[in-house]
Amino acid sequence: MTSDAAANLNFLAENNARHVWHPMTDPKALERDPPLIVARGDGTRVWDAGGTEYLDLMGGLWNVNVGHNHPEVKRAIVAQLDRLAYYNTFAGFSNPPSIELSAKLVEMLRPEGMARVMFGTGGSDANETAFKLARQYWKIMDRPEKVKVFSLKSAYHGVQFGGMSASGGIVWRRAYEPLMPGFHQVDTPDPYRNPWSDDPDELARICGGILDREIAHQGADTVAAFIAEPVQGAGGVIVPPASYWPLLREICDRRDVLLIADEVVTGFGRTGSMFGVRGWGVKPDMMTFAKGINSGYVPLSATAVNARVAAAWDRDHALAPIMHGYTYSGHPLACAAALACLEVVEDDDLAGNAARVGARFLELLRARLGARRPVGDVRGKGLMIGVEFVRDRETKEPLAPDDPFLRAVARGCRDRGVLVRCQAHRIVISPPLTFSEAEAERAAAVLDEAVADNV
Ligand code: PMP
Repeated sequence: MTSDAAANLNFLAENNARHVWHPMTDPKALERDPPLIVARGDGTRVWDAGGTEYLDLMGGLWNVNVGHNHPEVKRAIVAQLDRLAYYNTFAGFSNPPSIELSAKLVEMLRPEGMARVMFGTGGSDANETAFKLARQYWKIMDRPEKVKVFSLKSAYHGVQFGGMSASGGIVWRRAYEPLMPGFHQVDTPDPYRNPWSDDPDELARICGGILDREIAHQGADTVAAFIAEPVQGAGGVIVPPASYWPLLREICDRRDVLLIADEVVTGFGRTGSMFGVRGWGVKPDMMTFAKGINSGYVPLSATAVNARVAAAWDRDHALAPIMHGYTYSGHPLACAAALACLEVVEDDDLAGNAARVGARFLELLRARLGARRPVGDVRGKGLMIGVEFVRDRETKEPLAPDDPFLRAVARGCRDRGVLVRCQAHRIVISPPLTFSEAEAERAAAVLDEAVADNV
């Protein structure tokens, strides 16, 4: 490294320590363990500011589905930048990329029956939009008491007040309570960690029954919507039983409750099908997207509603105007990036690659790590994989989130040129969907060495 490069690195590290507060991080912990400053990327690899190369098993933050530095995506952003960087989409205005993207999304979502989309800038925005539209829908339908939002206890739906109130984990809520009224959580069908059953269908029936009874108990006439992730991400990479989502659809229909799929992570191929719910054969009423919609090249999210929900807005009602939206709803650069990304996702069959390579990767990880003592479970769907660490494999007592073992394993991977994410007592893996079998083999070997070194 040249002396200029070393001085720049020092400048970055010092100023990061002095001025930046990082999301989901105790500032004090950063003093002990400074962040890796990632300065460059290409495909499945990134380089830190010192020039060291890593295989990116985090895929940015489970969002860079087409890979880093994609030439087509960059070209689309620059071409749009040459025409127009920004114009709003509020009343009376629109811009071409947002119109083209809405048409593209509705076409891609034809099997799910989505009819309209509203754009935002991130997953939290998208869910906030969904909650507000769900409440508005029932008001327009002259059922104004249907306002509550139900969700799962280990769900993660974002950090704004609605999303935080719908997220089950107390770790995300405690410092910011009180929550929004009208948000309620029921038990997650977690095949690895539940007090009821090892049989997936029985577990789905039990958890579905809990939701159904809670809706009945509170009064279905007070419940607007139920939201869940097709595969839970931040709550622990929990893959529900295959019969759970069809059961959710059946319960929501019977109770006249809108079913919202939070596809922020699962959308656009991550779980091995284009959309998470498509993998379960279910058509929700609303779907929320961010992350993979344009692989994070420019912040963007979308909330889609199906034809039945959209039809409510055809009614003449004093509350029909949509008094919601962001300055950056339909941002032209973000939408242009999305159009290019979605073409790559479709043309390169990234969902198919996620299914194939993900299945192989899971097999490799299970073969290598399955028998190691602190590993409780290795699970996933497509390229959304979690390794759960326990103190005791019999009782499944989890490792404490601050157990040094987890950081040591992540650090061991990093020292071998592989980036993984520690989350609570788990390691989460979500590489770009261009990930190859050879990369999966290398990554599985590295993880295994890092675990073996620390037991
Ligand atoms: N929903 C899910 C399922 C998520 O995983 C996330 C973020 N990881 C969000 C919503 C919130 O997205 P954002 O961080 O872009 O606001």
